[in-house]
Amino acid sequence: MNAKASVLIVDNTPANIQVLAEALTADYRVRVASQGAKALEIARSTDPPDLILLDVMMPEMDGYQVCQQLKADERTNGIPVIFVTAKSGIEDEAHGRDLGTVDYINKPFHLPVVRARVKAHINLKLKTDLLENLAQIDGLTYIPNRRRFDQLFAQEWARMGRENKPLALSMIDVDHFKAYNDHYGHGAGDDCLRQVAAALQRTLQRPADLAARYGGEELVLVLPNTNGPGACTIAERARLEIAAAGLAHAYSPTADHITVSIGVAAAEVPAGDPQRLLAAADQALYQAKRDGRNRCCTAPCPG
Ligand code: GH3
Ligand code: MG
Ligand code: MG
Repeated sequence: MNAKASVLIVDNTPANIQVLAEALTADYRVRVASQGAKALEIARSTDPPDLILLDVMMPEMDGYQVCQQLKADERTNGIPVIFVTAKSGIEDEAHGRDLGTVDYINKPFHLPVVRARVKAHINLKLKTDLLENLAQIDGLTYIPNRRRFDQLFAQEWARMGRENKPLALSMIDVDHFKAYNDHYGHGAGDDCLRQVAAALQRTLQRPADLAARYGGEELVLVLPNTNGPGACTIAERARLEIAAAGLAHAYSPTADHITVSIGVAAAEVPAGDPQRLLAAADQALYQAKRDGRNRCCTAPCPG
C-alpha cells in the first residue's frame, strides 16, 4: 500500500507529455498515451490510473470522445478526468463538465497550478476509494455498495432461514437511462443517480432494511422479515417516491420524468441457494420492463 498514486497523461504532442510528466513524476507514477485508443486500453487494464489528464484536441479520437467512452464504461467511470486544452472558451469548459470531467487546465501550462489541481483531485479520489472500502459505501451515490449488499444479503438469508422468517429482494432499474445520459450528459446522469438513490433510501423505515447500489443504474433492496405482498407495498412506495422527485427526462418514451422499473421476489423460508432469489427478482424486473416500465412486478416465490 506504499505505491504512489498513478496519473495517466493523454496528449498527441510529445512536448506536452514531456512537460507534464516531468512536473508530476516526483509525486506520482506517471503513464502516458499519445492516442485515445491507447488511453482507453490503459484505463481498462487491471492497473487503472487514479487520475487522467486528457488533451481535448487529438486526431482520430478527440478528448470528448475518449471521455464519453470512459464514462460509459462501468470499469472506468470512477476515474476522475481533467481536460487539458488550449481552448479557453467557457462553452468548452461547460461541455467538458457535461461529460463528467472534474476540472479543466489551460495550455500553456502554469506548472504550480497543474500540480495543485492534480494533487487536490488525487486526494479526493484516494479518499473516495478509502470510503468505499472501509464503510462499503458507493462513492457515487453514497449508499451501501455492491460488496456490502453481497455480504448483508448472505447474512440475512442465513438469519431468516434460521428464524423461519421470509426475506424479500427488489431489483430497481432506471428507465431509459442511456437516453438520459446521451441528452443531458454524464455529469447530470451521475446527479440523477444520486437523487434516485436518496429517494429510495427515504422509503425505508425499518433499521434492518437495506438499499444498495447493485451496479450501474441498478439498485437493490433487501427486506428481512418481509413477505411478497409486504415487499410489493414497499416497492410501490419507492417507485412513487422516485417519480415524485420530479427529475425531468424529456427523452423518455415512458414519462416526462425519471421513472424506475422494479422486480420483487420473496422467499417465505430462505433455504438453499440465495442466488435463486436474486434471479427471481431479476426475472420480475424484466417482466416490468416488458410490460411497459414504470411499474413493479413480482416473481413466483423460488423454491
Ligand atoms: P431500460 O429502460 O431498458 O433500462 O433502458 P436503459 O437505457 O436504462 O438501459 P441500458 O442498460 O441500455 O443503459 C443503462 C445506462 O446507464 C447506460 C450507462 O452508461 C448508464 N450508466 C450506468 N452506470 C452509470 C453511472 O454511474 N453514471 C451515469 N451517468 N450513467 C451510468
Ligand atoms: Mg440496467
Ligand atoms: Mg435502465
